[in-house]
Amino acid sequence: MLNESEVLVLKFIQQGEGISRKTLAEKTGLSQASITKITQKLASERYIVEGERIGSGLGRKEVLLYPDPDKFTFLGIDIGGYRLRLALADYRFEIKRYEEFLIEDFEEKDNVLEELFGKIELFLAAAGAASVDAIGVSVTGIIDKAKRKIMNIPNLLRWDNVDIVASLHERFATPVYLEESGRTMAFAEKLVGKAKDVEDFIVVHVAYGVVAGIFINGEPLRGVNNVGGLLGHITVDEKAGRCRCGNFGCLENIVTFPMLEKQFAERMQTPGTLAEAYAVNDKVALDVCIEAGKAIGIVLSNVVNLFNPQTIYLGGSVFERFPLVLEEVKRTVLLRANRFATLGMTLDKSSFGDRQGIMGALTLAGSSFISAFE
Ligand SMILES: [Zn+2]
Repeated sequence: MLNESEVLVLKFIQQGEGISRKTLAEKTGLSQASITKITQKLASERYIVEGERIGSGLGRKEVLLYPDPDKFTFLGIDIGGYRLRLALADYRFEIKRYEEFLIEDFEEKDNVLEELFGKIELFLAAAGAASVDAIGVSVTGIIDKAKRKIMNIPNLLRWDNVDIVASLHERFATPVYLEESGRTMAFAEKLVGKAKDVEDFIVVHVAYGVVAGIFINGEPLRGVNNVGGLLGHITVDEKAGRCRCGNFGCLENIVTFPMLEKQFAERMQTPGTLAEAYAVNDKVALDVCIEAGKAIGIVLSNVVNLFNPQTIYLGGSVFERFPLVLEEVKRTVLLRANRFATLGMTLDKSSFGDRQGIMGALTLAGSSFISAFE
């Protein structure tokens, strides 16, 4: 076990960029002597390793410290509305094995947890992992206040009231942590991504669904029922169709990958997919993308006025495949949000592209696990 100061030091080192003892002393407020003692202990217990030396000129060269990759193994489970992903990572959050499944395969089973456990066992066996140190679960749905149960995943029938934390813990005899996926994506960005030094930011993911994680003053926004940040179900056009959440005209009902394909199919003049048409600058394809970017941009400009973030990180296959959507989002936010709120604000791509959710699950496992050492 580690004491409070040791965990604090370890948390800075596990950001993974390499940090010197001198910088650790500055960041933690601990004395150089304490840092020397603590890092000695962390190294002897194989939490950390020494890396390269930096520094120039006549000054003393500083050794950079990193987490020891072999110290821990984490399992991430990312449950989305379209895919379920599993990943195994080392203590530097490098993915060692990755697999994905269609969520509809689970819908045909009576017991989704048994189905999931079977897949995890095969996955771990194929990876040659006898056990893992912690499991992180990110889910694009509603979780209970205690972060133990999945209450609901919109449009999926078999994930209501699923007691996932206790069941996984019982089966795999390891600590299990559950969180809504937008929030885990924000954790990943904060812990090992671009937001390490950013206190106010929003992470947005648009693929087969829309999720977001909001950090205010360095803390994740949860709200009283753990539902805060439900960006995908903000009403954009009440005359638009009914969303799978029951409401009408939600953002998620307009800008997801399948909805863009659908809008394109309804209006296209030549056969083919949206991606094919986009590649040859087809007018209808470009219009569909611009409209989607505008819708996301309008929602985000409202969010900017409410929360005044320093940065918005955007990721997911819609932005990856159709860069025009991203451009239109940027344009619309700058045009519509309050000009004092956008002063100095940046819109940036997420660090993890299509792997935001699974990186969220892995960093949730890693950070919760280390915090529990105190
Ligand atoms: Zn909705």
